[in-house]
Amino acid sequence: MIVVGGGPAGAVAARQLAGAGRRTLLVEDADGRSPKVGESLPGAARPLLRDLGLLAAVEGGRHLVSNGNLSAWGSNELAATDFIRDPHGLGWHLDRPAFDAQLRRAAGEAGARLKSARVRSTKWSADRWRVRLSDGGEIESPWLLDASGRRAVVARRQGATRIRDHSLVALCAWGNSRSSDTRTLVESTADGWWYSAQLPSERRILAFHADADEAGRIVRAKGAWGAQLARTRHVRRTVTDASPVGPPLGLDACGSRLDRFAGKAWLAAGDAALAFDPLSSQGIFTALYSGWRAARAVDAALTGDSRLVAAYVERLEEIRAAYLQRHRLVYRSEWRWVDRPFWRRRAVGADCVAS
Ligand SMILES: Cc1cc2nc3c(=O)[nH]c(=O)nc-3n(C[C@H](O)[C@H](O)[C@H](O)COP(=O)(O)OP(=O)(O)OC[C@H]3O[C@@H](n4cnc5c(N)ncnc54)[C@H](O)[C@@H]3O)c2cc1C
Repeated sequence: MIVVGGGPAGAVAARQLAGAGRRTLLVEDADGRSPKVGESLPGAARPLLRDLGLLAAVEGGRHLVSNGNLSAWGSNELAATDFIRDPHGLGWHLDRPAFDAQLRRAAGEAGARLKSARVRSTKWSADRWRVRLSDGGEIESPWLLDASGRRAVVARRQGATRIRDHSLVALCAWGNSRSSDTRTLVESTADGWWYSAQLPSERRILAFHADADEAGRIVRAKGAWGAQLARTRHVRRTVTDASPVGPPLGLDACGSRLDRFAGKAWLAAGDAALAFDPLSSQGIFTALYSGWRAARAVDAALTGDSRLVAAYVERLEEIRAAYLQRHRLVYRSEWRWVDRPFWRRRAVGADCVAS
């Protein structure tokens, strides 16, 4: 079995498949061009991590405990959510590269072989996949699990298309910070929304989320990112003890899905299948969960039982429907700038685009 992509979804899938006795190869493009972002993992992930046998590793890792959220959304005032009251316990601000490496190591310990290479092409012929790698290698596999993130390299080569919701670009910058307040701060503004979070190793991330056209304008105009920051009430205060290094890095952050999550002898998991607006903080959790479920479905399919594949696809449809419903509610609860393009677009409903 070949798992393409060694992020949370792929690493968990490879661990599950290897643990089930399948010869498993996890191929990760270690030369990935942009840094991994996405570091808030809610306490609700604890039971899943425990079931996956990964909780102790995460708790023992160099991640920062997250005590709660602060949010100025629909109001100038900050509302606090304290994770102390969360029955699942505190969340984390992950050291993301270290977290992904921990998961890959766990897959290796379960017996998966790890390969650092880029999948260049995939071809189905004579009842097998033939996969060509950037190191010149060619390998065969009866099934492929696509966990390659938003790129969905396997699924898209099979003709699956990505349906993208409203455009959303995250303009991210990192700085040094020694703040002891580990709550995540979210603040909406006239042209989008911000988050600011303390990270391990005395780092802080600041990210402004805007429509693609506005994000492009901000990146091109000198000082525009700082001007947006100056318009915040709360987020700008978190940089008095931080030194954000610019220019900000723009990353695609819109919610999206594949038009189909599975095909002949392939299945997609994690962001490859379903990606979320970071406001939901649900990307890593769903990647872990779907990686695990996808691997179980493939394992069953290899014995000729495709029922788990159908159940998996149905589950992803449910997750997507619940996400869309919640997403609409949250965006429509910010009513102060409905005359501004960012909020107006979100008030009138999804403008999905296939790509
Ligand atoms: C700005 C931003 C902020 C976010 N914040 C949060 C957050 O706070 N909390 C949260 O839960 N989620 C957050 N997310 C989402 C989260 O980062 C993703 O949901 C998560 O990384 C998905 O995991 P994955 O394993 O599916 O994909 P990825 O983590 O993207 O992993 C895919 C892997 O596939 C590899 N790959 C790609 N192509 C190939 C190839 N051809 N060959 C071999 N390997 C390949 C890549 O190198 C990569 O390591 C955020 C996302 C963005 C954009």
